[in-house]
Amino acid sequence: MEIIEKLISEDDSVKYLLKMKDGNTVETLYMHDRELKLTYHSTVCVSSQVGCSQKCFFCATGKQGFVRNLTDLEIIEQVGICMDYCKEMNLTPIDAVVFAGMGEPFMNYENVRNGIIGVYNKYKISNFEIATVGLTPGIHKLIKDFKNTNINIRLNLSLHASSNKTRMSIMPVNSKYDIKSIVDVGVEYAEIFKVKTRIRYMIFKGINDTDADVERLEALLSGKPLKLIISSYNDNNIQGLTAPDKNDVMNFYNKLKDKIDCEIFHNFGSDIKGGCGQLRQNKI
Ligand code: SF4
Repeated sequence: MEIIEKLISEDDSVKYLLKMKDGNTVETLYMHDRELKLTYHSTVCVSSQVGCSQKCFFCATGKQGFVRNLTDLEIIEQVGICMDYCKEMNLTPIDAVVFAGMGEPFMNYENVRNGIIGVYNKYKISNFEIATVGLTPGIHKLIKDFKNTNINIRLNLSLHASSNKTRMSIMPVNSKYDIKSIVDVGVEYAEIFKVKTRIRYMIFKGINDTDADVERLEALLSGKPLKLIISSYNDNNIQGLTAPDKNDVMNFYNKLKDKIDCEIFHNFGSDIKGGCGQLRQNKI
């Protein structure tokens, strides 16, 4: 893979645009938690596909359409490039790999699985996270393949709405895997691996941050082994979607924090097009 663009953020994150042998490009984000606030301090967010077929309304990658799956070696190489950067800059070696870049990992499950095993064998990294729109059959394969291994995989389910009507309007996948199926598979995964499943909730100002949303989220998640991770929409200039400001996010969090387990996600690299697909979008 060839590095064709490398942007360094004020927060030390690095966004790469990488060109593969066939000329296709993908993005990889290195995230450095310099304040040591998070579980992992040196993380790579890798892509699993060129483009994506899921068509989430808010996503720059979804707008680009699906091109092809990445091979397991292309997944491993993204980690290698960030490993080299850590060595060069004398940073903490990578301690976790997150599949939250371009693509839906469970649409390329075999290569993602082999990529995880390859990264574990080559770099001795045993902590992974997979972000998904909630493709239940793939999650069941993951459970079967990694249940009795030393590899830890945190599951990160994209909810982004508290009602099926709203979720349907921003995530077409909801017609097949709706809010109930997300919560059910999240609970199932947490019970098997004895770790809370993360439920991602990206705030779109005025769309999913109302008091009714707070009530519905409490009803959906309270008492379950699930943790709500609240983030803000990274502005992609999509008509009808507005990014919340810091106060909007804090108000929403304050209304929920005594009711359910939740935290605010730190958006790495927002000054360098850190959101998935934003850098590639400007190059195609
Ligand atoms: S958010 Fe993820 S699943 Fe949805 S279109 Fe973007 S890359 Fe695909």
